[in-house]
Amino acid sequence: MTQTFKDRSFEVEKGLWAIFPGLCKGCGLCIQKCPKKCMSWSDILGVYGTPSVEVNDECIACGICQTVCPDCAISVAKKKEEK
Ligand code: SF4
Ligand code: SF4
Repeated sequence: MTQTFKDRSFEVEKGLWAIFPGLCKGCGLCIQKCPKKCMSWSDILGVYGTPSVEVNDECIACGICQTVCPDCAISVAKKKEEK
């Protein structure tokens, strides 16, 4: 287990998902609210020494986790749709 203040980015099909473990308090709200159930706990520790979260390829970059996180630990950038 390690602790880091750098962000961790995951490129998913619909965009870019990033977590700042140094801000994540491990409340689990994002995991609860994710409509794709694609979030889980990771080995990277958050600000209070609890696990922070990560995503898998099922993420659709909807941004709900970013909206519900009370500590702004998640950043989601949706790719522009090809017209
Ligand atoms: S962006 Fe949407 S689908 Fe992806 S992890 Fe967050 S809530 Fe889940
Ligand atoms: S809602 Fe925010 S603080 Fe809570 S577990 Fe998710 S990323 Fe961490």
